[in-house]
Amino acid sequence: MFLNLLYVGYEGESGMLSNLTTSEAFFMIIVVSIAGMIVQWRLNSVMSKYSKVPMPTGMTGAEVAELMLRSNGITDVAVTHTGGYLTDHYDPRSKTVNLSDSVYNSRSIAAAAVACHECGHALQHAQGYGPLRMRSALVPLVQFSSQAAMWLIIIGLIMTASSGSQTLCWVGVGLMCVSALFSIITLPVEYNASNRALAWLESSGLLVDEELSGAKTSLRWAARTYLVSALSAIASILYYVALINGRSRD
Ligand SMILES: [Zn+2]
Repeated sequence: MFLNLLYVGYEGESGMLSNLTTSEAFFMIIVVSIAGMIVQWRLNSVMSKYSKVPMPTGMTGAEVAELMLRSNGITDVAVTHTGGYLTDHYDPRSKTVNLSDSVYNSRSIAAAAVACHECGHALQHAQGYGPLRMRSALVPLVQFSSQAAMWLIIIGLIMTASSGSQTLCWVGVGLMCVSALFSIITLPVEYNASNRALAWLESSGLLVDEELSGAKTSLRWAARTYLVSALSAIASILYYVALINGRSRD
């Protein structure tokens, strides 16, 4: 749907994306936000459903993670416990797979799916997976650009009104593009980690049939949250481009 909107925007009167109005771009942001809420709601309900389905082997998320790492020849990554909900992550600096309360000690297939997904990131790191390296390289730049972009655009819009110069605005948009690029590079990283997790869960024989498809469903909905983030970043850029162009036409 979002892509259709993009296409409509692109094929508008003069065929220029820059002709998109602020209200059209704002509508895109609303659509993406609603999609985001639906995805989050589905993710919560899917996770809640499969966190009640026990692992056939009775293993905890932490035990499954240990087994996946060791059976892939990774011995220098530790599996640790971290607080919070959906805070599971792999930390490449400390080489730790951090599993949250609902995953570490849980003996459910949702916990196994999440644990293996994080181990998928550890495997990517060990094998020097390209998109992960690119994503890690962008982290310091994104921390700066996400903070600075909004301020530059606000000050830039004031300057546009007074002096007509749009330079600062476009620098701000450029920084927003860095954040959007980060969200886009995150997609192959996340989908690949899930694919590694599911391939291992299947080949190890830990999950079969319905349990395996439950793990697939859980990870598929988790991945969609990253897709929404990327679309949201693109929609925000289109909105500010329309806003800056609109100001200059006034
Ligand atoms: Zn991930």
